[in-house]
Amino acid sequence: MKKDSSKDALDKNLKFMVLSSIILFVLFVYMMLKGDTRIVGVSYYFGLFFLIVLLFAAILLRMNKDKLKVYFDKKRAKSFSSIMEKTTSPQSSEIKVENSNIQAQTSNISFKDVAGIKEVKAELEEIVDFLNKPERYLKHGVKLPKGVLLVGPPGVGKTLMARAVAGEADVPFFYQSGASFVHIYVGMGAKKVRELFSAAKAKAPSVIFIDEIDAVGKKRVGGSNDERESTLNELLTQMDGFDGDSGVIVIAATNKIEILDEALLRAGRFDRRVHINLPNIEDRKDILDLYLKGKMNSLNINELASSTAGFSSASLATLINESLLNMIKRDDINICKEDIEIAKTKLEFGKKENKILDEEQKEILAIYQASKAFISKRQISLFQEGVSKCEIAYPSKKHLIKLLKEYLAGSIGIDIIKHEQYVVYVEDLKDADELAFRMTNEFKMATSVDDLLNEVKISLRNELYKNIDKINELKDIMIKNEIILKNEI
Ligand code: ADP
Repeated sequence: MKKDSSKDALDKNLKFMVLSSIILFVLFVYMMLKGDTRIVGVSYYFGLFFLIVLLFAAILLRMNKDKLKVYFDKKRAKSFSSIMEKTTSPQSSEIKVENSNIQAQTSNISFKDVAGIKEVKAELEEIVDFLNKPERYLKHGVKLPKGVLLVGPPGVGKTLMARAVAGEADVPFFYQSGASFVHIYVGMGAKKVRELFSAAKAKAPSVIFIDEIDAVGKKRVGGSNDERESTLNELLTQMDGFDGDSGVIVIAATNKIEILDEALLRAGRFDRRVHINLPNIEDRKDILDLYLKGKMNSLNINELASSTAGFSSASLATLINESLLNMIKRDDINICKEDIEIAKTKLEFGKKENKILDEEQKEILAIYQASKAFISKRQISLFQEGVSKCEIAYPSKKHLIKLLKEYLAGSIGIDIIKHEQYVVYVEDLKDADELAFRMTNEFKMATSVDDLLNEVKISLRNELYKNIDKINELKDIMIKNEIILKNEI
């Protein structure tokens, strides 16, 4: 998209230049013929000469654009390999390319095509910069993470983001889904992993993207699938086998980080993690703006963004597309509110995974998150999942109890305010159980898991009950802004 659009823009500019110079030229000749006295001095001739030179330069540049690109690409690849030769050992720079059917793709996506999720872009910008200007990092001996794990629900733009990294850096993009490594015959998946890495190294700098890595990277539970295990082992070996300066960045995507084998998350593998949540209200506005760009409509974007809480970015794209189909059916050229409503109904009934929140459901989630924000005293957005894990090297019992409270705050907060229990984030409850189990059995801080959990729940209930007005206030902020900032708690 990026290169095509820039090419289109160039062609358009060129057409404008040609047109305006023809008009100027005709005017000039006309005035000359009329013998207008205003045409005096050399400045007019100089202007005309300058115009012709400019036009000529533009045509020449346009004609050689592709050649110039090839020249610069070659120069970059050459400078990269020479830097590698200088900074890495001879063995590691030697790349053995296996015969394979794995082909690189060229990504035409840029960061401009990814709406919202600004923090995620900012996190990945460093990697783009490394791929663009490796010498800036390598001369200081800096090694970038080899693996970046994008964690988030389906349709939030993980694949799009990975393509955008490759597109921004203008490097080859190797796409594989985790499931494509899973074969019936032992060793086939591992071979494919080897081929993928060897092809990517040969084309370095490059980006490997492994979608749904859980298909191959699930936790190993004894005596299970030999083929999956050998594929995972190969993936681990390959990740270890190249240096952070090899110019290959591996990006992987998953919905659930908890089910991944810990070995994958260890230092030197996927040690950088970037969470992408469902889009918040501001992100949704940006996404809607992107998809409605250049399309006539009588929609109120603010209203539409606020009524689409729970939509993923992909569902928003589909919503606009479906609305356009309705508009065409009506034989109109203007998208109206009705088109959106019809499309929304279709989406709601079409796919089960579309968690579209009505006012009541949004309130439940808002109470859950408001209670969590109150206890953790941290900024939380409406769709943010989980609690930040324990980062302290030597946590105290007090600290761990606070963490337990953070896990349980949401459910208890809803119970207090709505006088009913709701299922929201089951993972939080599992995490609470796991922590209580460890505190009892490993850390010997309690005599029984149940007693510990009950004690924490009673104290949490009191704390939340005493501050019910504050939590209601936070809930209203959450419903309105879809985020609670630290200074609002
Ligand atoms: P994921 O990999 O997280 O499941 P994808 O990247 O495959 O999601 O997104 C599916 C589609 O949704 C994309 O091709 C794009 O059309 C749209 N999309 C997703 N996220 C965004 C975004 N942030 N901005 C614009 N479009 C998006």
